[in-house]
Amino acid sequence: MKPPPGLHRHDGDAWVECGDHQHWGLFGAAGLLLVRRGTDGAPAQLVLQHRAPWSHMGGTWGIPGGALAPGESAGDGALREAMEEAAVDPGSVEVVGTHVLRHPRWSYTTVVAEVRAGADVVPRAADAESLAVRWVGLGELDDLDLLPPFAAALPELLRLLPPSAPAG
Ligand SMILES: [Zn+2]
Repeated sequence: MKPPPGLHRHDGDAWVECGDHQHWGLFGAAGLLLVRRGTDGAPAQLVLQHRAPWSHMGGTWGIPGGALAPGESAGDGALREAMEEAAVDPGSVEVVGTHVLRHPRWSYTTVVAEVRAGADVVPRAADAESLAVRWVGLGELDDLDLLPPFAAALPELLRLLPPSAPAG
């Protein structure tokens, strides 16, 4: 399926040949894993995106993200995509780490962040790339069809979180 008109577009939006497979994002791609802690201080919820059927591996759940624009850093790209796709205000989050998955001709950077002290993040599907965007409890993950590379990386991503919430 083709993407509907009206989406944000830039020069990084293209497929890259990488050995016997392809990736989306001429300059690589990046996404935001945003975590919210529970009242006990432990990580409790993640912002996940139910991917539109026309997108790569559509119908699965992953994090908001996408192709980097020319000259854009992975950190900036992840926050831009989270704003465009999930209405996450970059001022409401605190980046705590990054994880890079490297392929020969492409890379995917996951920016791990927490909700800033005193801020409230109410994610929503802000463009046509998502069927839904919402907070998902860690206990719900087993019931969702997760994007396979995201599911594979998740334990390592969660280990990037500091033991307690960053001070405001
Ligand atoms: Zn590859």
